[in-house]
Amino acid sequence: MLKRIFTRNKNNTTIPDKKAKQDVPEGLMTKCENCSQIYYRKEVEKNLFVCPNCDHHHQLHSWNRINSLFDEGTFVEWDQHLKSVNPLQFPEYIEKIEKDQKKTGLNEAVVTGKGLIGGFPTAFSVMDARFRMGSMGSVVGEKIARAVENARELSLPYIIFTASGGARMQEGVLSLMQMAKTSVAIKRFSDAGGLMISVMTHPTTGGVTASFASLGDYNFAEPGALIGFAGRRVIEQTTREKLPNDFQTAEFLFKHGQLDRIVHRHEMKDLLITILKIHQQTNMNSSSSDKAFVSIKGGQSV
Ligand SMILES: [Zn+2]
Repeated sequence: MLKRIFTRNKNNTTIPDKKAKQDVPEGLMTKCENCSQIYYRKEVEKNLFVCPNCDHHHQLHSWNRINSLFDEGTFVEWDQHLKSVNPLQFPEYIEKIEKDQKKTGLNEAVVTGKGLIGGFPTAFSVMDARFRMGSMGSVVGEKIARAVENARELSLPYIIFTASGGARMQEGVLSLMQMAKTSVAIKRFSDAGGLMISVMTHPTTGGVTASFASLGDYNFAEPGALIGFAGRRVIEQTTREKLPNDFQTAEFLFKHGQLDRIVHRHEMKDLLITILKIHQQTNMNSSSSDKAFVSIKGGQSV
């Protein structure tokens, strides 16, 4: 008797049959990972992948980010030909890289280039968390360092959007060396009077947080982004202290002075244009330099 309670009634099942499944084409609908609301993918796409219900900022792919910021058709990509090798002969590393190249259509976990944002010429880098979790290998470091050097040579401001799981373990110490390489390039750029804006997006961790992501003249983040160096558990075990719930969120870091501002994705382009405009005007008023460099140094010679 009791057993019959648990017997599934085959004629009254709530599991959709094969035909019903086919009626909803795959990829048409999408679910918010924060509030579980279901939306048409197109609707969320139009909203720059911000949930219309709870305002959760979903990860934005590199080219979606570029399209959301740059004036149409102005972005020119740099160093698309650079590809990772396997310096430590790490097992299956190249296979994983090739798989991600196929999946994303990218050569590596960062896209660099230049274009116009609200009419202002800008050098740019954007990391893509779909590619090896946005981890920083030699090619990622090289592309970012080159983008910063190009910005210096072309007298352009430099903007970077980060999203990274940190150093790439398959490249060992070569991965860690990218922290120094990118930091030196940024120091030279800064010494020449260049303006750098860094925007940390979810998640920005490890060696990326500890190097170029935190070196902007302006350091911004998107709402709710996880930003940190070591993982929460490691810190708790080391310090033997319970950490607050919002630890390593953009909001926590802003409260403690590590970020200049948290910027909603819908306001990002306007804010960047305002900053580019302010610094260009500063430079135009300067008599010490006749070079059209968008300068953070308030018009010092560049
Ligand atoms: Zn939501």
